[in-house]
Order: sequence, then structure tokens, then C-alpha cells
Amino acid sequence: MQIITDPHAFQQRAMAERASGATTALVPTMGFFHEGHLSLMRWARENADTVFVSLFVNPTQFGPDEDLDAYPRDLDRDARLAEEAGVDVLFAPDPRAIYAEDHATWVEVPTLAQHLCGASRPVHFRGVATIVSILLHLAMPSMAVFGQKDWQQLALLRRMARDLFIPTEIIGRPIVREADGLALSSRNVYLTPQERQQAPHINKGVQHIAALAEAGERSAAALKAAFADYIAQHIPGAEVDYFELVHPDNIQPVHDLTGPTLAATAVRIGKARLLDNTLLLADA
Ligand code: AMP
Repeated sequence: MQIITDPHAFQQRAMAERASGATTALVPTMGFFHEGHLSLMRWARENADTVFVSLFVNPTQFGPDEDLDAYPRDLDRDARLAEEAGVDVLFAPDPRAIYAEDHATWVEVPTLAQHLCGASRPVHFRGVATIVSILLHLAMPSMAVFGQKDWQQLALLRRMARDLFIPTEIIGRPIVREADGLALSSRNVYLTPQERQQAPHINKGVQHIAALAEAGERSAAALKAAFADYIAQHIPGAEVDYFELVHPDNIQPVHDLTGPTLAATAVRIGKARLLDNTLLLADA
């Protein structure tokens, strides 16, 4: 596995792959790898000739009071895990190499950033769309692979790629979970042992809502109230940042469920803000 830190060198390598006719897959990450990241890399390994992974804790997607400095990092371990997953190139640039001091170009997809995480993280998706756009220009991959844990991000990037005619297929892959249902996240390291014991209730709460929808409940207001009750009862110290029912493609709120609907939540437990989601009425 080659580790590249210089964006131009990475672009040269990507151009050479493209010229050779190889299919390439890019897996964008912020590092501190877990099985969720590795599942994307393994999918890429099976489906492309050449696998690129980017490891970049992107400063522009963090708000001023967020955890940019505290975000966990371990490049040596990540490089070892990426190599074991069969990655060909690990692109790990310095932020100053990506963003010039007078960087002035931003990519925004405002309608998909209005709700869910966008409501409490106003600059987040502008940062995400901009860095992914930069990475796609550098890697020019046949495919880019993302996790459904960040469903809103995936939907927004699909829209960006479509609107900008970016010739990369955007692939979404299922959420990888711990045995107790907690979605894997680099931020799970922020949980104390006691919080870690409570955290699986986020997914249990989402599953509770899925069961209610399955049983015929179609009112978003009723489902939201049921989720709030579930969390208040099972994780008393937690704060529900949001629990929303939205259209899975355009991320607009749904009031009465009539077809496939995304139930998505962000819950704060101690220092961690944890995401989960599931598709309701997938076959409707
Ligand atoms: P991050 O490093 O958190 O920015 O995540 C990099 C990629 O891994 C994103 O596409 C995430 O959606 C994906 N990812 C993170 N956690 C999981 C998980 N538990 N299951 C599947 N994909 C994940």
C-alpha cells in the first residue's frame, strides 16, 4: 500500500490508473478506522481494480464549538488496517495542502442540508460537499463508497454528483453495528463505560418506532412522541438532538407515512453525539 500526502501526487496516481483503464473506488474517511470503515474498503476491494482511501479530518465540516481538536486520530494503526483490507493507496493530506489560505470555493446543497444534522450543524454539509467534491476531482474514481449511517450525507452527495454531472457512481453501504445494535462510530470512544451500556438504546428506540410503523402507525407526530418517550425512559441523561421522519432521497419532513420513509436520529450521551437511522415501509 502506498501512502500519499501530496494532493498533486495523488491526482497523478489517479490519472495513471484511469489511463490504464482500471476501475477505481474511493472511500472517503476521517480515520480512526472501525469495522464500518473496513466494510466499505472490503466492498471496494471486491468491486474495483484499484482502491483509494482518503483519511482527512476535514476542518471545514466542524463548527466552532465542535470536536475537531478532540477527534480521535491514529495514522499508524489506520495504515495497518487499510493495508490488511487490501487498499492500494491511502491518501492522508495535511489540511494546509487541501485548503489554501485564500481558499474561496464552496459547494452547497442547501435543500438537503436543511433538516436532520443540518439543522444543528449549520456549516457541516457545506464542508462535507466541498471536501468530497475536492476528493472526487483528485481521485476521479469510477465509484465512491459511503455508509448509510450518515444517510443524509449520502443523499446529499448523490444529489451533488447528479447535479454537477460528476462521472462517479455513488455507492451506499449498510450500517455496521456492535452485537448489541450500537452503530459503530469513531466517536463511540467518547462514551464512558456506563454511557456505552446505555447507548444501544438509541437503536432499540429506532427499532421500537419501526415496529410501530410496521404495526400500522402512520402519524409522524405519534412516532416522534414514542421515540422521545422511549429515550427518556431508557437513557434518562440523554438529549435527543432530533428524531425525524423524512423522505429518504430529498430529506424533507414527512407528516403521514405513505411510502418508504427514513427515521433518523442524533442523540447526545455525555460528550458523544451519536447517529442512527432506519428505513420504514421499505417495500411500500
Ligand atoms: P467517517 O470517518 O466517520 O467520516 O466515516 C467515513 C465513512 O464511513 C462514511 O461514509 C460513513 O458513513 C462510513 N461509516 C461510518 N460508520 C459506519 C458504520 N457503522 N457502518 C457503515 N459505514 C460507516
